[in-house]
Order: sequence, then structure tokens, then C-alpha cells
Amino acid sequence: LKSIGVLTSGGDSPGMNAALRAVVRTALFEGVKVWGIYNGYRGLLDEEMEEMTSRSVSDIIQRGGTILGTARCKRFMTEEGRMQAYENMKKRGIEGLVIIGGDGSLRGATQLSLETGVPIVGLPGTIDNDVWGTDYTIGCDTAANTIIDAINKLRDTASSHNRIAVVEVMGRHCGWLAMLAGIAGGAEFILVPEEEYNLDDICSGIIKSYEQGRRYSLIVVAEGVGSSLDIGKYIEEKTNMDVRVSVLGHIQRGGSPSVRDRVKASQLGEKAALALIAGQSDVVFGFNQGKVVAIDLHDAITNKKHMNDEFIRLAKQLN
Ligand code: ADP
Repeated sequence: LKSIGVLTSGGDSPGMNAALRAVVRTALFEGVKVWGIYNGYRGLLDEEMEEMTSRSVSDIIQRGGTILGTARCKRFMTEEGRMQAYENMKKRGIEGLVIIGGDGSLRGATQLSLETGVPIVGLPGTIDNDVWGTDYTIGCDTAANTIIDAINKLRDTASSHNRIAVVEVMGRHCGWLAMLAGIAGGAEFILVPEEEYNLDDICSGIIKSYEQGRRYSLIVVAEGVGSSLDIGKYIEEKTNMDVRVSVLGHIQRGGSPSVRDRVKASQLGEKAALALIAGQSDVVFGFNQGKVVAIDLHDAITNKKHMNDEFIRLAKQLN
């Protein structure tokens, strides 16, 4: 291809800028025009796009969020909307797209490719690490580090007061982020949507550990498990101990990307641009055991990611 577009869509994640920078600079190096499309699919519909230069992506590798902006777009969910998007691309000679986004964004990309034949290459941009076929998604590492910062602080105050700290982290359907942060933060219990848990068992475990001299407890809860406030209340009533619930919220989405996210996003951005330019389509690039892998776009959106059993085992073993 001689002219491509790139957009970020859905929930933002730290490292999207690093991926964008790599896509733009790789395309330019290959002598291919590259259009930056603002605000996800909405920009494609409302014609918010411009041709990028190498300078357009200067000074962004260290920034969280996405300089292109992102949005959720209902109109793109209709065939009519997607045809309009296609027309707007054709008008400018944009022959293919790199889509950086989560599960939903990749679903939208599949539809567009199916209906119009536009070549699409996807990159998994989400802190949830919930994209099938890759053990890495752009932003999860930074988000886990943000959670660890919070956990370290919560440990200080929980231990001073002999309290139980319940920390709710993002992850509606997928507990990867909770699991990573819980293991790294040394949590006693990690509750994820993929794994059943018994609150009464947790309460008796806490009581026992206090009897053995533990000064405080840390429980990490993925938001998909249920209301952390209710969970905290239940534990307080059952154990008769002081519980504090902290919902970390959107803090987890922001921040300067970690080294890991910058490097991996750069690697993926380069691969995506080269593949698209070479005419590949319907593929998502990710990592598997440290190596870049190409995942079929259809497989990526139809399969459900499984939690790493080894993590579940390890978390239990070490608590
Ligand atoms: P994420 O990419 O983070 O999972 P969303 O699920 O909100 O975020 O998806 C982002 C956007 O992708 C939506 O606002 C919509 O424009 C588009 N999209 C999501 N699912 C579909 C679908 N099934 N068909 C077409 N477009 C979709």
C-alpha cells in the first residue's frame, strides 16, 4: 500500500503513543503516506484526520493516553456508518488501517474489513490484557505498576492501623491486571472473575492469620467480581475488624508508560505498519512467550482469553 491510516479507539492505555509513533515513523521510512485519524472511529466518520509527519509524533513516547484521542462511536456500529467511514477513507486515498484498541475496537475493525475489503491490522491496546492470542497488551504493565504504587501506600496505613485493605482494580471480564498486581503486591487474596471464591473461607483465613500474628491484610479485587464495597462490608461484619476499601478507578489508565510498554508497543507498531504496507490484513500483532506473533483477527475476537493457571496457583501458594 502507498497510503495508510492509524487510529486509537476504545479505552485508552499507556503506550498507545509509543505504538502510534512506531507506526508513523515506520511508514514514512518505507516511503508510505500515513494519516492520523482523531478520536477513534468517530474521526473516520467526521473526517477528523490529517497527514502525519515524523514531527507529528515527536515528544510523545513518554506520554500516557493517546495524542490522537479516542472515543466510543455508536454510528460505527451500523453498516451505514461504516460505509461512510469507508467513503471518507477513499476520498483521501487511505488504503488500509492500523487500529490500536481493545476487544470492541477490533470487533469494529473486523466488520469494516468484512464489508469493504479494506485491509486492517490491529494492535491490542488495553490495560485489561483481555485480548485472546497474546499474553501482552499495550498498557497493562504500566497499569500494574500504578496499582503497585497504590498498594505500597495502602500497606503503610493498613499496617499502622491493623486494618484490612481491599483494593478494587480494573478488569470487568478479565482478572489479569488484578492477578499481576496482586502477585507483585503480595496480596493475601486476589479475587478475579475467572475463579470462584468463598468469602467465608477468606474471612476465616484472615482471622487465623491475625491470630498467628499478622498485623494487616491486603485483598485485591477485580471490578468484574462484584462490588468491592459490599465485599468489604461483608468482611468487616464477619471478622469484626476494621476494613477500608479503595477503588483505584481511572488513575490506572494514566501515567507515563513503563519501559516494557514503550519497547513492546514500539515493536508492535513497526510490525503492524510493515504488515499493512505489504498488503496483509485481518491480523493482530501481539506477543507470545516473548516473541512477536501474528494472530488471526477473527480468532482474536471470537475466542475468550483464559487466565494463566500458573498465576492462580502461584498466588494461592504464596499467600
Ligand atoms: P475497547 O476497544 O476498549 O474494547 P469499546 O468496546 O467501547 O472499547 O469499542 C470501541 C468502539 O469500537 C465502539 O465505540 C464502536 O465504535 C466500535 N465497536 C465495538 N464493537 C463493535 C462491533 N461489534 N461492530 C462495530 N463496531 C464496534
